[in-house]
Order: sequence, then structure tokens, then C-alpha cells
Amino acid sequence: MLYDVAILGAGPSGLSAALALGRASRRVIVFDAGSPRNEAATHIHNFVTRDGTPPEEFRRLGREQLGKYPGVEFMDEAVLSVEGERDDFELLTVNETRIKARRIILCTGMIDEMLDIPGFSEAWGHSIYQCPYCHGWEVKGQRWGYLAIGTEALAHGFAAMLKNWSDDVVVFHPEEETLPDDIIAGLENHNVSRHVSPVKRLVVDGHKLTHVELADGQRIACNVLFAHPPQHQVKLVQSLELELDPQGFVQVDTMTRQTSRPGIYASGDLTTRAQGAIMAAATGTQAGAMVNYELSMSPT
Ligand SMILES: Cc1cc2nc3c(=O)[nH]c(=O)nc-3n(C[C@H](O)[C@H](O)[C@H](O)COP(=O)(O)OP(=O)(O)OC[C@H]3O[C@@H](n4cnc5c(N)ncnc54)[C@H](O)[C@@H]3O)c2cc1C
Repeated sequence: MLYDVAILGAGPSGLSAALALGRASRRVIVFDAGSPRNEAATHIHNFVTRDGTPPEEFRRLGREQLGKYPGVEFMDEAVLSVEGERDDFELLTVNETRIKARRIILCTGMIDEMLDIPGFSEAWGHSIYQCPYCHGWEVKGQRWGYLAIGTEALAHGFAAMLKNWSDDVVVFHPEEETLPDDIIAGLENHNVSRHVSPVKRLVVDGHKLTHVELADGQRIACNVLFAHPPQHQVKLVQSLELELDPQGFVQVDTMTRQTSRPGIYASGDLTTRAQGAIMAAATGTQAGAMVNYELSMSPT
């Protein structure tokens, strides 16, 4: 069986790519390894018409709606390797299934690396968040913190922006010398307080953060923490040796979403730091439509 397109990943991006291709009567196979980036979250927010939907319900609805397009199939298996080239790719899954496809769309998301701080993993997605638009409204007005890892996010005013949701925002910064003067002034201007000391431990009650303990001995009350831990690509994407940008995201043509390897396209979190379910869905739709267009122009 030669599929027109193999989509790797059935999150918001992969499901949206499959919808565009299914509606174009393409033969599509969607693989999923079953480990979405937001699996610690209980609800998806900031997705119009789906605000407050549990992630598993979002995926179930996506698959249900795709059920009416006979060209779209699902295989809940991780893809281990992609060999071959445009028009003739061969995929091998974890259960040793081999599938052939003319085009590939990578929608595999990103892996967040849990920080080596006691309590971090337990609270991730429950009271440690990466995006205030996603989870800020539900916890607005509480004692918020921002865990600065390097200065880049601060330079973009992230901590100051958090004041939209809470008057009580504190920045935990590991080292004084990494914080430029203009950023210190900006934070003071926004009345954001700072603690300069490495975080030793996060005190959690179940999944709920209560305090941040610093290496200098201070124990600061804090219910909600924002952080942007490092991320990396899934192994399969690493193995493809695609061109990445300096932050490690897969580079794509902005119009076609083709990667540096002809016939391999990418959409969603793995291509950008501007990460969110609706943005991943939008680029998935774009990738699906562009692959369909490109297949229509190619000899069969
Ligand atoms: C804790 C948390 C909460 C969040 N809350 C929100 C929110 O409320 N609102 C919002 O807009 N955004 C939220 N986000 C961000 C949002 O989850 C992502 O932007 C979105 O899921 C990205 O969609 P995606 O399709 O690119 O990737 P994902 O949703 O991560 O899906 C990728 C899929 O690819 C699969 N996969 C990976 N490798 C393979 C392989 N080799 N073979 C087959 N399948 C593979 C994975 O199993 C996974 O199912 C949150 C993120 C986190 C971490």
C-alpha cells in the first residue's frame, strides 16, 4: 500500500493536516506514539470553540470528525525510522510495521526537559506553566513566580507581562550578573520583585506548589510558577538530519512548510517557539493543503 501522505503525530497539528488532506480525498495514514506535550494538563485553553476542553477529549473529537473521510487511517504506533526519498519513503514502526508514503508531514511536537529541581516534575502542568494565556485565567490573582533560566525570556518582558494576571509577581533568578541593568529597571518599573539565588527545592502538596526554597535559605510563598525549560526534538526527527534553527526548531519554508529534505514537511511545535494548540493546528492545515497542492502538480 502506497499512501499519499504519512503524518507523524496526532496532536492539534497532525489532526489538522489530516483534515485538510482527508477533505481533498487523499490516502493518509496518521501515526501517533501517544505522548502529547500537554499530557500533564487537565484542560486546553485559548483555542476558540474548544476553550476548557480536556486534551484527550480534543483528540477524540478530532479523530471522530476525521472518521467521515475514508482516506484517513490511524495507527497508534511510534515511527522509528523514515528511509528513502520524495515519492518513495518507507516508514518502520515500533511494532515492525512497514508503510510506504509519497510525502511525510512531521507533527511530532517537542519534548520539554524537566529541570533538575525537586518538585518541578510533580508540579509541571498543574501549578508550573509555560504560557499564561493557556492557564493564567484560572489562577489569576494568586502568588505568581517566574523562574528565569537565562535572560532571554526576561528581555522579552515576560515577567512584566504576567502582571496582567496577578499583582503579586516575583522573579526567581539564579545569578545576579546574568541580569542586565535595563531589565532590572524594567522589572522595578512594573513592581515585579526579584530573588537572586538558585532555586533549591519547590515545595508541593500533591501537584500544587506552595513555596519556593532558595539556596540562600529563603522560603518564598508561591502558588503558580511560570518557566520555559529547555526542549529537544523527538529521536525520529533528530535522526532525519534536517536543518534546524539556532534554537533547535526544524526550519521550514514559510509558505510550503517543506523542510530541508524534499518531500518531508513539518508543522506545529517542532518548528517554532511560538507554541500553542491553535497555532499548531493552523500550521498543520497549511502543511496539509500545501502537500496536497504539491502532489497535484507532481506526476503519479
Ligand atoms: C503542560 C502544558 C499545557 C499546555 N496547555 C495549553 C493550552 O491550554 N492551550 C494551548 O493552546 N496550548 C497549550 N500547551 C501547548 C500545546 O500543548 C502545544 O502547543 C500543542 O500540543 C502542539 O501541538 P503539536 O501537534 O505540534 O504537538 P503535540 O500535541 O505534542 O503532539 C505531538 C504528537 O506526536 C507524537 N509523536 C512524537 N514522536 C512520534 C513518532 N516518532 N511517531 C509517531 N508519533 C509521534 C506524540 O505522541 C504526540 O501525540 C500546553 C503545553 C504544555 C506543556
